[in-house]
Amino acid sequence: MTGERWALALRGGAGVEKGRDYGRAEALLEGLVLMGTDRLKRGDLALDVVEALTSAMEDSGLFVAGRGSAPNRLGRVELDASLMCGRSRRAGAVASLRGYPSPVRVARRVMEKTPHVLLVGQGAAEFALGDGFDPIGDFASWTRDPDGFEPEDLTDGHGTVGAVALDRGGHLAAATSTGGTYGALPGRVGDSALIGAGCWADGDVAVSCTGEGEAFIKASAASDLSARLRYAGQDLRDAANSVLETVSRRGGDGGLIAVSKSAEIIMAFNTDGMKRASASWNQPARVGSIGQQLRLAERLVIPISPQPDW
Ligand code: ASP
Repeated sequence: MTGERWALALRGGAGVEKGRDYGRAEALLEGLVLMGTDRLKRGDLALDVVEALTSAMEDSGLFVAGRGSAPNRLGRVELDASLMCGRSRRAGAVASLRGYPSPVRVARRVMEKTPHVLLVGQGAAEFALGDGFDPIGDFASWTRDPDGFEPEDLTDGHGTVGAVALDRGGHLAAATSTGGTYGALPGRVGDSALIGAGCWADGDVAVSCTGEGEAFIKASAASDLSARLRYAGQDLRDAANSVLETVSRRGGDGGLIAVSKSAEIIMAFNTDGMKRASASWNQPARVGSIGQQLRLAERLVIPISPQPDW
């Protein structure tokens, strides 16, 4: 059964700084929110849309995910991603994956082709190879040259990408992907790979988080938002703000995006901003980075340039 309601939000990180130009990241989000709009309008599944949008952000090099990932203390990139289908409650995730361009696509296959939720490290890479993903021969130079990073830009580690959607069939889905935090210990896994912490979808809401992963894990941030709707009767905005208050009590900051089964959207952060875009059946597509201000998205052909932008 298809209704007329649909909703979509996507984001980069919540570590934006006033005075910086996030034009390229915004242009990418603008193009993607319009692409997602077209797909949801024509009846595509929320799960397919969030996977495609997250994968496009991974591939852009404009965020700390996929091609733009942050090297750990050994100068190596390890990728984490997860996604969840609200209708079936099925979920898939990978952590510390090396050698593959789109961890969110591997996470989807983990969900569909294994009895497991989370595969890590070598096991995740072997699964990806066995499932037909093409490894990147020279992974170190596919991701950005660690020497090209400005550590001060990355130490706050806010660059994760994510998307949440409600489709016209009434189903919710969420996806989150990160290239970790700059200078982390090898093997460190944040919230982005953990269902319930950085990613959640059920019959009520879909959530994708960004920020200091350790604090989001200790807050069970993404699933706590859903619990607050169900058990505390909070509305979406209050639930999102309460979750971020818990996150800051656990010692972190960041943001989240969520859509509800009634097509409400929240894009909340306790930082100076978050690169983000949204659209729904009754709200035009909008995009923004700093502060609460959003501008209307325009249908332009956007050239995508894989350059640092945060
Ligand atoms: N939450 C991510 C992590 O801790 C980082 C981020 O959102 O930028 O790995």
